[in-house]
This record gives sequence, structure tokens and C-alpha cells, in this order.
Amino acid sequence: MRKRFTLKEYREGVLSGDRTKLSQAITLAESALESDFALASDLVQEVLPFTGKSIRIGITGVPGVGKSTFIEAFGQMLVEQGKSVAVLAVDPSSQKSKGSILGDKTRMEKLAGNPRAFIRPSPTGTTLGGVTSKTREAMLLCEAAGFDVILIETVGVGQSETAVKSMVDFFLLLMLAGAGDELQGIKKGIMEMADGLVIHKAEGENIASAKKAKTAYKNALHLFPLGENNWSSPVMTASSLTKEGLTEIWEMILKYSGQMHESGFWSSNRASQRLAWLEENLQFLLGKLFLEHKQVQEMLSQNRTKVETGELSPLSLARDLINTFFNPKKI
Ligand code: GDP
Repeated sequence: MRKRFTLKEYREGVLSGDRTKLSQAITLAESALESDFALASDLVQEVLPFTGKSIRIGITGVPGVGKSTFIEAFGQMLVEQGKSVAVLAVDPSSQKSKGSILGDKTRMEKLAGNPRAFIRPSPTGTTLGGVTSKTREAMLLCEAAGFDVILIETVGVGQSETAVKSMVDFFLLLMLAGAGDELQGIKKGIMEMADGLVIHKAEGENIASAKKAKTAYKNALHLFPLGENNWSSPVMTASSLTKEGLTEIWEMILKYSGQMHESGFWSSNRASQRLAWLEENLQFLLGKLFLEHKQVQEMLSQNRTKVETGELSPLSLARDLINTFFNPKKI
């Protein structure tokens, strides 16, 4: 049985930076139990005034590009500079494959052992919506616990990128130099979302091809119009094995932060992210309530086949289900 604490205990534990309490608070926030929900949302509300001070960085790239290795090396560099670093993950595939991206903790062994670092594997949720909302809550709890930098890892598989982009200040895309086919395999939309691109594993004999790839990506990015923040995303090369280029990546992020604070984009972006969070919550919670509704469930199971066979229009069933949800029959 998981131990539960009072709101005050969770709150004080988190605010004092107690790692165990922080972990337990995140577990509470991730819980699917109805009975935990009210406590978790009260906790997030109470710690809200102590959040917002960290730099939130999203890191994406296809499996094998070296995200975990990069996070370990980059995180260690930050920790050595005296910063505290929390690592979270959004991985909608982790449930199906059971191969959660941070599940294999040995990949970040050194960082995990550092007292200034905190590593949390991806929550398991039924939907991406559920997972991302929980990751936002985990992020806020980490901020309230005093972490300076939050790194959020996600796999390069579409939807989860958009979700992470909508909760971070800076979105970093890791890529590999390919032999002549640099632009393949990376969706244009993800490149457009990135605030910085890194050609990874650029060491030794890979350096020449990494530089070539860097030029190719720079040229490709020039074709994209500048976004609302007027930032032209730099392309850099780095290696997490030799640590080359890591300092430059941090400097790029600091430069971005400086410019965005000055222009006001930093805070306006966070403001719209909060609204996005509200929308996500509404959709997720409403969907959950709806699908848990007894009469809706019954009606759905009775009529599902008719939709499958084409006898009943999906729109018509959806309308009937919604009517039932809002006007349940008195039994
Ligand atoms: P992820 O799936 O994106 O998290 O990738 P991993 O961090 O698990 O790395 C995949 C493979 O790439 C591992 O075998 C790493 O040792 C290797 N790798 C990671 N970073 C580098 C790097 O900077 N240079 C080289 N040469 N290999 C790396």
C-alpha cells in the first residue's frame, strides 16, 4: 500500500526540497485514483506561487539519437556549475511497449546519483492527454522543490512533441548526420517547432559529416518563416561522449532566455501554455467522466456494432450519448 500524507505534509516536504516527499507528491499527482485527485490538485494549487522560476527545456529526437546520453552529460555539466536539475519524460508509447524512455535508469546512472539531480521516469497513463497533464504537474512540483533547470525528454514520434513544446521554454531537437540524406526521417513540423537543433555524436571521424549536415539544416531552416518570437533557431554540433559543444548549447539557451525575457515572449508564452493546460485538463477530465458514466457505457456497448456495420451513424450515436450524459434517465 502506498503511504499517503496530509496536504500540509506534502506541501512542506516539496517546498523544503525533500526528494522522497517530492517523489511521493509526483506519485500522488500521477495517481488515477479518484480519491487522490482532489488532494493532488490542492497541492499543485498551494505550491503554485513557488513555481515558474526554472528554465524548462524539452529534448527530442528519434530513438538512438542519444537523448539519454545527452541529458546525462548536459545535466552533469549543469550540476557541476552548481545548478540543480530535474529530468522528466513524456513517452506515450511506454505503456504499450513497457519500454519507458527513462525506465532504464542505468542510462543516467551518474546523474541519478548526484544530490543536485532528480530523475523521474515517464508516468504511465491511458492517453497522451493524461500523461502530459501529469508531466506538467510533476514539473511544477519540481520547481516548487527548487530545481533550477527542468529537462523533459520525449521520443520523436509526433504528438508527444507538440505536447512537450506546449510546456517548455526551449525545445531542443537532436539529430544525426546521415550520408547525404540529412533531411530524411525528421518531420518538417518538428524541425519548425525546435528552438535549437543539434547534430549529435559529432566527434572524431563523424565531425566532417556533422558539419555538412549542419550546413544542410541551416539552409533548410532558412526556408521557414520566423515565428512569433523572432528567433532564428541555431544549428550546432555536439558530442555527449567527448562533451564537445555542450557549453555552447547552454549558452544558446541562456541567450534565448535573455532575448525572450526582454521581448516579453517568455511570459506571454508561459501564459498561453497555462491556458493550454486548462484546455488539456478539461478535455481529459471531461472525456474520463464521460467514458466512466454508467448509462453512457451501456448505450455505447449496445450500439457499437451498429456503428461498425454502418447501420447507425457515428454522429447520431455521439449525440445520443451526450444527451444521455447530460440528461441521465432516472432509474
Ligand atoms: P536515445 O534512444 O535517444 O535515448 O539514445 P541513447 O542515449 O540510449 O543512445 C543511443 C546510442 O548512442 C548508445 O549506444 C549511446 O552510447 C550512443 N551515443 C549517445 N551519445 C553519443 C555521442 O555523443 N557519440 C557517440 N559516438 N555515441 C553516442
